[in-house]
Amino acid sequence: MERRTKQLKNAPFRRRLQPGRGDRVKVKGITRRWLVNSLGLVLVVVVALEIGLAFFIKTFYYNSARQTIDSRTTVMKNYIVKSTDNVTDSNSAYIRNLVETFTDKDIIELMAIDKHGNVQFSSSGFQPASNVPMPDYEKAKASKDHEGEYIGKLSGEKIIAVTIIIPPESATGFSALRFVSSLEDVDRQIMSLILIFIACGVLAILLVIFTSSYFIRSIVVPVREVGKAASKIAAGDFGARIDKKYDDEIGELCDIINYMANELSNADKMKNDFISSVSHELRTPLTAIKGWGETLMSCTPGDADTIAKGMRVIIGETERLSSMVEELLDFSRMQSGRLTLVMSKLDILAEIGEAYIMFTERAKREGIEIEYHEPEMLSPVFGDKNRLRQVFINIIDNALKYSNEGDKVRIESFEQDEFIYIVVSDTGCGISPQDLPNVKNKFFKGNLSRRGSGIGLAVADEIMTLHGGALLIQSELGAGTTVTIKIPVISKIPGELPTA
Ligand code: ADP
Repeated sequence: MERRTKQLKNAPFRRRLQPGRGDRVKVKGITRRWLVNSLGLVLVVVVALEIGLAFFIKTFYYNSARQTIDSRTTVMKNYIVKSTDNVTDSNSAYIRNLVETFTDKDIIELMAIDKHGNVQFSSSGFQPASNVPMPDYEKAKASKDHEGEYIGKLSGEKIIAVTIIIPPESATGFSALRFVSSLEDVDRQIMSLILIFIACGVLAILLVIFTSSYFIRSIVVPVREVGKAASKIAAGDFGARIDKKYDDEIGELCDIINYMANELSNADKMKNDFISSVSHELRTPLTAIKGWGETLMSCTPGDADTIAKGMRVIIGETERLSSMVEELLDFSRMQSGRLTLVMSKLDILAEIGEAYIMFTERAKREGIEIEYHEPEMLSPVFGDKNRLRQVFINIIDNALKYSNEGDKVRIESFEQDEFIYIVVSDTGCGISPQDLPNVKNKFFKGNLSRRGSGIGLAVADEIMTLHGGALLIQSELGAGTTVTIKIPVISKIPGELPTA
């Protein structure tokens, strides 16, 4: 039931990892983010620039038109002031002449307005319709500086018109001069400039889209591949690898995923090896127990020797089984951080001696010479008696296990610089330089031809670390192995020690 609940909980996660569907979502996500963040910002900036430029161009061109008219009005004002010096009827003819001989008549139309507000003469030679309003004239009449301006549409044409009031003392019979210039050409020029700027803006945006889409592709495509490979790895295909195309962060990600796949593949292989070696380890004693059980069943009470031998084997194999199960339990405790020590002050010499004695019989049986060089005395240590003995047994067991008939196992211990060293060396098969760094890793088995689960040294190393000591391994393939167990003496441990 619990298993089913777990499966259901993991289902959405697995669905997300399905290649194809998930990728599309990711691709859309990146492109959409780019559209909103990058392209959106570029668009806003370009549009703002275009609007600003359009406004600037229009103001500039209209101001130029106004300045052109202003320069003419200044000249005209001078003429009119001169004309007031000698007030005669000929002043009327003077104004008429002024209008008709106006030099800039091809760009500006000059009109003379009489006292009744009607246009009398025009430099174009045409009289404008009397119903056409003259807002600039009305403004000029009301203004203190006797000038009025109008920009806008009149009779369907966009114009700029400036009126200057002729001083009444000039007695010309005219009330104002009006300068009118068409803005149609100016507007056309402004429009073509704006169109050029819009084209430039569109070009810039297209360039940004082109370069960015290339850039986004260079991210999205490899990310999609990474996603596909990761999905395959998650589904258990540890052989899946990604081709590294770029030497950048994405390339680094590819390297990491490939490395992760390698590690997972190694871990998976180790796990499989572990399961198979543990199964094998469990099967061998079980076969012996079953075999001897069947033999004992068919034995008569008179076969005392056979019965005794059978019972010995059964007890021995049962012990082997229970020590294996203990080792597995220790390993599981170590993995979950529950491997705790029951510390007390102890005489380590006695523990080493006991472990040595345990193996003398077996060494003799296997034709391996085992010797122990016992020192006179060693300082007491603060440690877990059972765990330390477990380490000694494990190391001596390995020394015998990886030795052959005729080999030698030597145990010695000594004290140096407030540490006790227990050195177990053998002349066995040794460890290859490639395997040596891994022997303390969990599940690692360098030598598949010998029994073992590959967790003994991992547990021993953890126990020694918990004691503030260390497990050091030196080895030469074919020559033998030396394992040094290092443990601090009690005086080296800071603080007051609890009494056992
Ligand atoms: P195992 O159950 O395989 O012995 P261990 O953790 O005790 O697991 O040891 C890990 C590996 O280290 C072994 O598989 C073996 O290859 C290597 N090893 C350990 N001790 C020795 C030794 N004394 N001589 C040679 N190889 C050794």
